[in-house]
Amino acid sequence: MDFRLSEEQEFFRQTVADTVDRLIMPKVEEIDRTDEFPWELWKEFTSLGYLGLRYPEEYGGMDADPVTCMLFYEEMSRASVGFAQSVTMNMLMGTYFVYRFGNDAIKERCFLPAIRGEKIATMCFTEDQSGSDIGATRTQAKKVDGGWVINGTKNWITNGPLADCATVLATSDPSLGAKGLNFFLVEKGTPGFSPGQVLHKLGCRGTVTGELVFEDVFVPDENLLGEEVGKGTNYLTEILNEVRCMTAAMAIGIARTAVADGLDYARKRMAFGKAIGEYQLIREKFARIVTELEASRLLMLSAAWKIGEGMNPRNEAMMAKYHAVEMCLECVDEVTRVYGANGFAEEYGPQRYFRDARFLLYGGGTHEVLKNALGKAVMSGHWR
Ligand SMILES: Cc1cc2nc3c(=O)[nH]c(=O)nc-3n(C[C@H](O)[C@H](O)[C@H](O)COP(=O)(O)OP(=O)(O)OC[C@H]3O[C@@H](n4cnc5c(N)ncnc54)[C@H](O)[C@@H]3O)c2cc1C
Repeated sequence: MDFRLSEEQEFFRQTVADTVDRLIMPKVEEIDRTDEFPWELWKEFTSLGYLGLRYPEEYGGMDADPVTCMLFYEEMSRASVGFAQSVTMNMLMGTYFVYRFGNDAIKERCFLPAIRGEKIATMCFTEDQSGSDIGATRTQAKKVDGGWVINGTKNWITNGPLADCATVLATSDPSLGAKGLNFFLVEKGTPGFSPGQVLHKLGCRGTVTGELVFEDVFVPDENLLGEEVGKGTNYLTEILNEVRCMTAAMAIGIARTAVADGLDYARKRMAFGKAIGEYQLIREKFARIVTELEASRLLMLSAAWKIGEGMNPRNEAMMAKYHAVEMCLECVDEVTRVYGANGFAEEYGPQRYFRDARFLLYGGGTHEVLKNALGKAVMSGHWR
């Protein structure tokens, strides 16, 4: 076994880290305070070509392996997880099915501009009455001559209110539950397609999250993103491992910044005549969270490496997401404690990490849902 990153991966990680420090870090507090989509930063950052990271070079991408992609997600999330969320939506969920199933004209209109950052992409399956249980999707697509008519409302959609291209989960037969689902591409300007309410969130600010409304939206046959009707759930599993590893990488990114700030604070803050970092109980916190952080990273990188090798690390990707996000929640909690009252103050980072970390609980599966699935795998003897 060789646990080292390759020279290329290490070089890439350092380059991304430098770019994040130069372009994103100085804007992090402003993004959180204003909760506005940072258009200038978006243009500057996306012009560097990172949005095509995981896609083939023939499309202008970088053809990067999953481990390299995880390094990118982790470095991005060290800074602003809100901005990282907008970026990663364009890089993976918002573009994957368009890339995989779109014809040349669709790719030209939606995929290529999205990975160049010229268009905003999103993917929507959540509704007011269905989140984890996608089989309860009520947004309906009815077959008509030459295409489909879509009706319904999606909620909690990242980039949703800004989206130029939306990959939309809809049922063609509600009686079939998860077996009646399909993805459709709906483009801005299509009659009946409109943004709804924008949500005001606890954290993950600067990414615009909200509703998308579909009222008798007609899309032509080629906008069905899939070769077979009713196979949406199967197609979704193609990227779930990657999405889960990505969420783990984002958790590790937040935790790294929290630990770095916490250590700095613990070295400087004095109590009872010495730096608080001299006290065993404070050191124990860092010993514990850094151990968990490294364990999270190994689990995440191992699952990502397996994806790159063509394996299906379904359980490990779930474990990676679950472990890293729980680690991150504990880490940001401990760091706010290290900061004392200042952990509760807006002018310091920990309250932001504390709010941002909670967002990671949902995407890629809530932990109750993941533990259900892992428990089932373990009980049936299939946990590796
Ligand atoms: C900032 C943010 C951005 C988001 N962006 C997007 C996006 O771009 N596109 C999109 O489609 N969605 C998006 N979501 C929604 C996200 O995918 C959902 O929150 C997630 O799928 C969970 O669904 P839910 O919130 O409806 O919770 P529910 O599924 O209603 O769950 C509620 C609670 O019940 C528990 N639960 C559910 N089923 C079980 C079970 N079988 N056993 C035990 N407990 C269970 C859950 O774990 C949770 O604790 C976003 C959410 C957030 C917070």
